Amino acid sequence: MPSFDGFIFDLDGTVYLGEEALPGAVETIRALRQRGKPILFVSNKPLEPRQAYAAKLTRLGIPTPPEQVITSGYVMGHFLARHHPEWRLYVVGEETLREELRGHGLQVLDEFWEQDPRQVIQPEGVDGVVVAFDRTLTYRKLHTAYQALLRGARFLATNGDRACPMPGGSIPDAGGTLAALEHMTGRRVEILAGKPSPLMAQVAGEVLGLPPERCLMVGDRLETDIRMGHEAGMRTAVVLTGVTTREMAEQADPPPDYVFRDLGELLAWVDPGPTLDGPRPA
Ligand SMILES: [Mg+2]
Repeated sequence: MPSFDGFIFDLDGTVYLGEEALPGAVETIRALRQRGKPILFVSNKPLEPRQAYAAKLTRLGIPTPPEQVITSGYVMGHFLARHHPEWRLYVVGEETLREELRGHGLQVLDEFWEQDPRQVIQPEGVDGVVVAFDRTLTYRKLHTAYQALLRGARFLATNGDRACPMPGGSIPDAGGTLAALEHMTGRRVEILAGKPSPLMAQVAGEVLGLPPERCLMVGDRLETDIRMGHEAGMRTAVVLTGVTTREMAEQADPPPDYVFRDLGELLAWVDPGPTLDGPRPA
């Protein structure tokens, strides 16, 4: 078995589902850390800051500092702060994402409350529209984003997932909002922060301090986790605890390098004993 220096794990459907850690997750992360392997968790969810996801992992038995988590909201903020710190942003998203972007020193515009959404809203001074998973989506927000995009604002999105898995099913994510605005304006999103975007892979590599070929990307979704890892030059492993079945994994393009029933099976594979770090003391 090949050895890896760093491990990148998707969260939903890979490490946990709802408030339950998935089989083998706690033991696998613990074992990799005991062997000194750097670990990073990546999520396309822009609903909470990284501190909240770190706290959730810790609550589920995987003690994790915020520095070991990146979200699509964090990647968007990190990218814009570095490359376009002067942009004034209109955010189709939740308040926590606006706060996160402000936390990166970015200018986030308030709603254009004084304008009647039944008339043509005139959003002044919008340099970029950020589309995100938004459970507080309204006609006013869509209308404002539409007008700003027609006036030439740059078109950004935290993530493009169609649905977010939940215990009992899934709920609409950012993909539909993004598709609606693309359809309305005839434009395509220009900058995507989340998987499968190379931006998230770049930030992950920076945080881990490792080149991609020394990392294993582990996730449950072929078109985001596996595609991003593959395109970034990482080895990839799909787990079957989320949205992917074994048949889907076998027919995937690009194919994952490895398929595991769950993280427990991954642990048995990466940690069979003496092969990972040399012989163990007798
Ligand atoms: Mg997932």
